Amino acid sequence: MKLFTVGPVEMFPATLEIAGKQLPYFRTPEFSKVMLENKEMFLESIYAPEETEVVFLTASGTAAMEAAVINCFTKEEKLLVINGGSFGARFGEICAVHQIPHDELVLPFGETLTREKLEAFAGKEYAGLLVNLHETSTGQLYDIKMLSAFCRENNMYLVVDGISAYGADEINFEKHGIDVLIVSSQKALALSPGLSIIAVSKKIYENKVMMISSGSLYLDFKSHINNLRRGQTPFTPAVGILLELHERLEQIRKTGILQMQQEMHDLAVYFRELLQKKGFSIPEYPLSNALTPVMLYPYAKKMYDCLKEDYDLVVTPSGGEMSDELIRIGHLGCMRKEDYKTLLSAMEKVREAL
Ligand SMILES: *Cc1c(COP(=O)(O)O)cnc(C)c1O
Repeated sequence: MKLFTVGPVEMFPATLEIAGKQLPYFRTPEFSKVMLENKEMFLESIYAPEETEVVFLTASGTAAMEAAVINCFTKEEKLLVINGGSFGARFGEICAVHQIPHDELVLPFGETLTREKLEAFAGKEYAGLLVNLHETSTGQLYDIKMLSAFCRENNMYLVVDGISAYGADEINFEKHGIDVLIVSSQKALALSPGLSIIAVSKKIYENKVMMISSGSLYLDFKSHINNLRRGQTPFTPAVGILLELHERLEQIRKTGILQMQQEMHDLAVYFRELLQKKGFSIPEYPLSNALTPVMLYPYAKKMYDCLKEDYDLVVTPSGGEMSDELIRIGHLGCMRKEDYKTLLSAMEKVREAL
C-alpha cells in the first residue's frame, strides 16, 4: 500500500524505527533536554526569534486551532476568518462555539484570495485574522505576504494554521509578522498523528495570553508555557511522537527546511506536468507544494475507490459537495518521483475503464 494522502503520510524509515521502541518515563532531566531541543529546533525551522514561546499539545490540529482562539481572544473582540474551504469553516465553528464574534470572508471554490477581496474587510477594528495558510480541502495556498501586510495595516494579530503548509511552503514567523503558528505531527513532519506544536509570539503572549482566562484546563497556554521553561508539560505528553519529532527536526536542521520545501516543490511540479500531459486538469488558483488537487467531475469518488481497491494506492478523497469533483494527491512524507509515475499510469487505466 502506498499513501498519497495528507496525513498520516508515508513515514521515513528512521521514524518507524523510533516508533517501534519502548517509551521512556518522561519526568526526567533526559526527557526535559529532548523537549528543550525540540523547542529550539522547531523555532529555528520557522525563523522565529528565540523569545518566541512554544506549546506542545497532545491533540490533533483542530484542538490546537481551538486552543489558539480561546487563549488569545475573548467575547469582547471581533475576528476575521478566511473561509475558503472546510478548514476555514472550522475556524468559524470554533468562534461560534466559544461565542467570539467573527466575520467570514467566504471564498467560493475555484476563486483566488486577492488583496481586493481582503480590502472589503479593512478598517473594521478586528482584533485578529484566523487563516489556514494552505486550505487543505482545496489545495489553495494563500499569499502570506499579502495577509501579513493586511494585518499590519489594520493592526490585527495574525493567527496562522500552518498545519499543512509547514515544511511544504515558505513560512517565516518573524518576517511575516505571525503571532500564532499552528503545526501538527502527521503532515510534512510525517510522524504519528496526535501531537500539535504552537509557536506564540512574545507580543501576543504578553498582551493577550497572559491577560486572558482561556476557560480550559487542558488547553491553557499559560501552564504549558510555564512548564516548558523547564522542558516539561503539565500533563503526560505524546512521549513517542516527541521522540520521533526530535529525530525529524535534527534531520531537517541538517538538510535545511528550504531544501525540504524545494524537494517537495520539485515533486509537485513533476507530477503536475505529467498530469497535464495526460489531459487531467488541475485548478488555476495558487497551489501549495503539499498536494495536487485533480478535477475529476463526476467520477472523483470512483477514481479514489478504484485506486485503493485495484491498485493499493491511497489518494485523498474530498468530503461533502466536493466528493465527486476533486481528489487530492499528497506530496508529503517519504515520496519519490517513481511513485507518481506509478500513480499516474493507474489513474489512466481507471479513466479508460470507466
Ligand atoms: C490536517 C489539518 C488540520 C488538522 O486536522 P485534525 O484532523 O484535527 O488533525 C487543521 N488544519 C489544516 C489546514 C489541516 O490540513
